Amino acid sequence: MATEERPYAEEARAVVAASRALLEELLEEGVESLPAPAAALETAAAATPAAAAAELPPALTLEAVRQELGDCQRCRLCEGRKSIVFGDGDPRADLMFVGEGPGEVEDRQGLPFVGPAGELLTRMIERGLGVQRSDVYICNIVKCRPPRNRTPLPDEVATCRAFLDGQIEAIAPKAIVALGKPAASLLLGRDIAITRVRGTWHDYRGVPVMPTFHPAYILRQYTPENRRLVWEDLKAALERSRS
Ligand code: SF4
Repeated sequence: MATEERPYAEEARAVVAASRALLEELLEEGVESLPAPAAALETAAAATPAAAAAELPPALTLEAVRQELGDCQRCRLCEGRKSIVFGDGDPRADLMFVGEGPGEVEDRQGLPFVGPAGELLTRMIERGLGVQRSDVYICNIVKCRPPRNRTPLPDEVATCRAFLDGQIEAIAPKAIVALGKPAASLLLGRDIAITRVRGTWHDYRGVPVMPTFHPAYILRQYTPENRRLVWEDLKAALERSRS
């Protein structure tokens, strides 16, 4: 293969891996058919090759991590965003929530989890756990909205993860809740099935991680059983963050 063709081969491998992960997640969640076309394939085909993963100096404050991010154009997700959705909440929070990526409302407002799924998450935090949303910290594994809300591609996640790592290091939470498969897979370092790992403790850079369902999934599958499971996971995470 000619040297100049390699970036496209890498791009294709990333798309296949992301598509497979998405299909596995959809199957887990009981989705049996999909509307065409596949957004991830279209987007990746039109995308430019991603930049190398960012590297941050150690021991930055949250503000410094945000400054380092700047008007980031390190991956293709910058192309369609309205705003960079960095994070929201207490910079010294004991409990941190990490989701997948901003949706349409989040992109418009520049804040994470403010659309319908975010409203559910806020209710779970405030009414369920009895904690103000402003007392926890909420962010995503990528800071820019993926087109059509597709799952972020592996190279996009890899490029953006230095900023999530910087946020975790600066905040130093006592517990992290990973919301949904992409966030949990990144923090656990392997491709996971959320139905199998939710409710169990893991570790990311010395911080306990509790994977649970994404609130968007709960909205789609609003069953008493799913709500009970998420409630148990969030309660365990809150207790751990207070220990
Ligand atoms: S998703 Fe992250 S790495 Fe990509 S452009 Fe946005 S901030 Fe930069």
